[in-house]
Amino acid sequence: EGTIRFENVRFGYDPDREILKGVSFEVPAGKSIAIVGPSGAGKSTISRLLFRFYDIGSGRITIDGQDISHVTQESVRAAIGIVPQDTVLFNDTIAYNIRYGRTNASETEVHRAADLAQIGDFIRSLPAGFKSMVGERGLKLSGGEKQRVAVARTILKAPPILVLDEATSALDTHTEKDIQSALDLVSKDRTTLTIAHRLSTVIGADEIIVLKAGEIVERGSHRELLGMD
Ligand code: ADP
Ligand code: ADP
Repeated sequence: EGTIRFENVRFGYDPDREILKGVSFEVPAGKSIAIVGPSGAGKSTISRLLFRFYDIGSGRITIDGQDISHVTQESVRAAIGIVPQDTVLFNDTIAYNIRYGRTNASETEVHRAADLAQIGDFIRSLPAGFKSMVGERGLKLSGGEKQRVAVARTILKAPPILVLDEATSALDTHTEKDIQSALDLVSKDRTTLTIAHRLSTVIGADEIIVLKAGEIVERGSHRELLGMD
């Protein structure tokens, strides 16, 4: 469950400027594919199209064989968990933020997800006044802490598909390593599309696709692509 296919996808935000020029790839269920390439290549556009934020010009995007243009944006997004570059949290409790993708989750489930994302101790040790609120009215979380909340949310939602869009690129190297290990845990055996601009952050991917100016110019394992970093 969770196979993604892009079939000769063409797309432009403006009719006179094509951003994706016939992109084809498959992420088999449970596998992990990374898309790398320079800024402006069209990597995030691929994730936006997968989320059905825009309709494609031509080609086809399918999930488990079903053309996503035939289903609602809500049902597409229900199947996908995303950890973006900068997680924007709601001005509410940390638990609320973790529960966001699955509002009926129990307190125990929320804490288990928080523990797996390595933010459980942090939540429990907060001073009473800060226990709950994040954002303007409460606690200011660091970039790494916010990413942990996003990871906990994804663990709880347990979607068949995971999109990591530069999920660690805004973090310092030390925090990046920490979050990466939590992400490895979430993405294990889950269909995962990782967007990154450095080859060194996607060593574990089953396949790496190199995108340049809207075209796939290279694909292979990290080993096969070595020398291009
Ligand atoms: P990447 O993620 O590889 O850095 P993007 O997919 O974000 O690249 O962007 C690809 C190209 O599309 C860039 O030239 C960018 O300026 C353009 N672009 C992105 N979003 C929009 C938009 N909403 N409207 C018009 N052009 C856009
Ligand atoms: P749900 O299906 O749980 O109601 P949404 O459809 O609102 O959730 O979004 C699904 C997930 O994708 C949520 O975890 C949300 O934080 C995330 N998300 C939605 N839109 C964006 C976006 N533009 N950039 C980054 N993350 C997003």
